[in-house]
Amino acid sequence: MPELEEHYADLKSTVADFADKVVAPASAEHDRNHTFPYEVVAQMGQMGLFGLPFPEEYGGMGGDYFALSLALEELGRVDQSTAMTLEAGVGLGAMPIFHFGNEEQKQKWLPDLAAGRKLAGFGLTEPGAGSDAGATKTTAKRDGDQWVINGNKQFITNSGTDITSLVTVTAVTGTRENGKKAISTIIVPSDTPGFTAEPAYDKVGWNSSDTHPLTFADARVPVENLLGEEGRGYANFLSILDEGRIAIAAVATGAAQGCVDESVKYARERESMGQKIGSFQSIAFKIARMEARAHTARCAYYEAARLMLAGKPFKKEAAIAKMVASEAAMDNARDATQVHGGYGFMNEYPVARHYRDSKILEIGEGTTEVQLMLIARGLGL
Ligand SMILES: Cc1cc2nc3c(=O)[nH]c(=O)nc-3n(C[C@H](O)[C@H](O)[C@H](O)COP(=O)(O)OP(=O)(O)OC[C@H]3O[C@@H](n4cnc5c(N)ncnc54)[C@H](O)[C@@H]3O)c2cc1C
Repeated sequence: MPELEEHYADLKSTVADFADKVVAPASAEHDRNHTFPYEVVAQMGQMGLFGLPFPEEYGGMGGDYFALSLALEELGRVDQSTAMTLEAGVGLGAMPIFHFGNEEQKQKWLPDLAAGRKLAGFGLTEPGAGSDAGATKTTAKRDGDQWVINGNKQFITNSGTDITSLVTVTAVTGTRENGKKAISTIIVPSDTPGFTAEPAYDKVGWNSSDTHPLTFADARVPVENLLGEEGRGYANFLSILDEGRIAIAAVATGAAQGCVDESVKYARERESMGQKIGSFQSIAFKIARMEARAHTARCAYYEAARLMLAGKPFKKEAAIAKMVASEAAMDNARDATQVHGGYGFMNEYPVARHYRDSKILEIGEGTTEVQLMLIARGLGL
């Protein structure tokens, strides 16, 4: 693994410090109460974390996607919900506007999103369109100078907070020459009449990350809210997901590392049969394997990010990183709970939260099966 350049290393250590001193102490209570950590998000905004990969002209920090990923790893180490608020806020919420928005749209929406004063959601998944995201049923019909949107989205992160300013949604806007659906992306401001973020889900984990089903009932937005080219919305969203896989791999790497750190600490303190449990080879080897998984996951996302920033193809490597890192998080969460014995099943222990939180890493932004499809395709199969 290459040594980090100084500015990346500085960012990583600043975020690590913030994660340990601010995020970790607040996270258990937000998790227990299923509350959104507004005060933590505001501080992350002040630190510039939401603006990391955006140019200064849009209120960003002039960094890049790797910088964002390093920050996500450090947050994911102590609290996946907080990390996901940043991951979805930047990678899925603001990034489509940055990549596909016209100048006016960027000027209008990005400064608040890059400052973390506002959040945006990414509305792709529907009740009947998850892995098969092209099966979109939501429609947007032109009526004069407006789009009229009807349909439902499901499981949308950051879509219903008090500071959510918009959701970008994919919707069928017509039929292509080959008879297939033409899917476009449209910006829907949160205060649009007919657009409702329904009550939040009762989830197994990621309790302080905001997730809602969305309803669109004759929701009207100006035609200027079309994001990117008409009919290119699906392809554009898939490219956002390619990048997003590096970001979610970084969160998962952090989670995997958090499980190692907690387990090392516990194994050095806890005694059984007159010895520290870390002196039992079965425990030490379990933790050694966990460390190897976290290391491998980190190498995988560093490499995918390196290719992406070099302008080289990175689809396969991003899928590998996402799969390897999410499996590392899940496997490490299971093993860390085992190392902690009964205490690992108590919510007050961070590893218990990782145990509940990690499963969704293998599902969101493309399931493991979808990653395998992408890797196989990358091999020409
Ligand atoms: C907490 C949370 C937050 C989320 N945030 C967002 C968000 O912000 N925006 C958004 O758009 N979506 C979001 N999602 C949705 C997420 O991306 C989808 O849940 C995921 O892509 C899987 O889709 P699905 O749930 O419909 O499962 P399905 O696609 O129905 O899959 C069910 C099972 O079948 C398998 N499967 C499906 N098709 C195939 C195939 N062809 N070959 C082999 N196996 C297959 C899957 O791998 C899976 O194991 C979120 C989900 C959750 C739970």
